[in-house]
Order: sequence, then structure tokens, then C-alpha cells
Amino acid sequence: MTKKITEKETLEYPFSKRPPNGDVLEVSPNLYWLRMPLPIALNHINLWLLEGKNGWTIIDSGMANDESKEVWINLFETLFKGKSLEKLLITHMHLDHSGLAGWLSDHWNLDPYFTEKEYQETQILSEGIEKSQEFIALDFYKSCGYDDASIKRYLERVSYRKTLVTPLNRGYNRIRDKEIITLGDHEWEIMIATGHSPEHACLYSKENNIFVCGDVLLPRITPNISVRPFHAESNPLNDWINSLKEIKERVPDDALILPSHGYPYYGAHKRIDSIVEDHMDKLKSLHKFCKHSKNVIEVFPALFANEINENALILAVGESLAHLNYLIGEGKMEMKKNSDGVNCYKSI
Ligand SMILES: [Zn+2]
Repeated sequence: MTKKITEKETLEYPFSKRPPNGDVLEVSPNLYWLRMPLPIALNHINLWLLEGKNGWTIIDSGMANDESKEVWINLFETLFKGKSLEKLLITHMHLDHSGLAGWLSDHWNLDPYFTEKEYQETQILSEGIEKSQEFIALDFYKSCGYDDASIKRYLERVSYRKTLVTPLNRGYNRIRDKEIITLGDHEWEIMIATGHSPEHACLYSKENNIFVCGDVLLPRITPNISVRPFHAESNPLNDWINSLKEIKERVPDDALILPSHGYPYYGAHKRIDSIVEDHMDKLKSLHKFCKHSKNVIEVFPALFANEINENALILAVGESLAHLNYLIGEGKMEMKKNSDGVNCYKSI
């Protein structure tokens, strides 16, 4: 959930200035920070560009709209200085990261690098949900306590999302956990995190001690961890906490973290501890709150400080279910359907 958490940790931010919207700042030799505007409440995404002997590498693409395309066309003319795009790597399926993957691939005539699941999910997003999937989604949201009007708005939102991603017309280069890949002129190790998205790729350069973390270790907001309609029984919070523990073992505390939102920083281990602690606090509060049976929408006050508006409803439902399913996995919560088919949760 994109919610500020109490900043108990003190992170160190080596850059006091950010690049202007649509422009770049060099953060390490031949590694550039591009601030791409977004047409949503989260108003920017950081994309990373690496210059190598044989051309450029782009990490993540921005959302599919004319403004983002103009930014790219301008950079191809000014920054690329006659060099081509050698590689495009997409960390994960979310539209701010993957929206222009298809367009960039077509423009440069190359196959992007993706993990398998993120490629498949991006394809599904660009094609829109089919009728059969729509029914699964409707059942899912009804069982969470949604009313008909909210479900209608959910469907409108799904069709709007489709407009923010370009079709992936080409194949892809599959990347896997622990694989070493050359981007620019340096080697990077792929590290996979699950929970925020199905197979999110992060990149670590041992040589430069830099970690491109995508949405995994954002400095000031915790990424959304959601149960989604087609995986209603899943336990993504458990996957997420395990992924964070593994990253803590694999990425040194003094690595420079390049996040997709916010400023680059030092302090990876403190940040991981703080994110895990935040989830543990939420689990405790949720367990206490569900002494009497509650449906998913009724548990929001236990998890979120602010009122949940219509725009945040899908994320809030997904995140609440992630915490409820985690407690079920721990044997601390039980779920029963009521006579209206709504799932109700009670602490054990
Ligand atoms: Zn994301």
C-alpha cells in the first residue's frame, strides 16, 4: 500500500537534487537517473539508463502515453548521441514500469528482457481481461463485501488500465534469479523478489555496489502487497517477507539503492527491517481487531490510518487480504462464508 510509514530508520540520501521531469542525472559513471512523469497520484517513476560501448540499456519504461513517448524520443536524440538501444529490461509488470515495453521494443527492433511471469502478466494486461476472467474477478470482489456500484467502477478501471500499456508484439529474453547479465559495460546479478508482483527482478552490481531495486526497497513508502482475484488463496505477504530476508543476505548494507520512486539512498538493511516490522505491526493489530467476525472491507481501520477512497479500494482490499491470508497460514485466523456469500474472518 502506498502509505508513508514512520521513519524510524535514518537513511542517507547522497543526492540532494533530483533530475527535472523528463530529464536525467548521472548517479555513477555511465549510469543515469531519469525522472519520468506519471499521469497518476504517484507523479513520477525513476528509470535507469546505462551507457555502454555497444549502446544503451534502459531499465523500465514508463506508462504508455504521449508525454512519456516524447520524453524518450527527445532522449534518443540528445542523450544517445547516435548510439542505439542495446537492451531493454523490465523489472515487473506494473504499468509504470512495463507500459512502454512494447513500444520501445518495436521502436528499436529488439526483444526486451523480462522474468517469465512478469512477461506473461504484462501481455495479459495489454490484452485486457477476458469474459471468463471477468466473472472470476466479480465473484472475488463480491466475496470481499463490494457492492454493485464498486464492482462496476472496478471494471471501468480495468479497461482504463489497458490504455496505459502498449502491446508486446515480440518475444522476450528470459532472465532468472542469480543469473549474471551484462548491462552497459558492467555485470549485474539478477535477484528475484515475490509478493509485490509475481517475479519482480532486481539488479545488483558487485563491482559498483549498486542495487537497482525497482519497487522492492522504496525509501519512504511500502509497496502494495496484494492478493489478486485469480489467486484468492495465495499468501503473498509470506513470499514478500521471505524475499526481503533473502535480499538482506545478498545485498550489502552499504550498497547504493536506486529505487523506482523517491531518492537514491544508503541503508538497505535498516529499510528492510523497517518494512518487515511495519507488516508485523499490522498483523498484530488485525489479529486484535478480528475478535468478532469481519469482512475484508470492515478490517480497513485496523490496517490503514486514512479513509480508503474509491481509487484506493482495490489496493486496500488486496493488501487486507494479504494480511488476512498470512494469519490464516499461521493458524491465527479462520474464514467462513456468510449466507450472502461474503467471506468473514475471525481471529483464533
Ligand atoms: Zn510495482
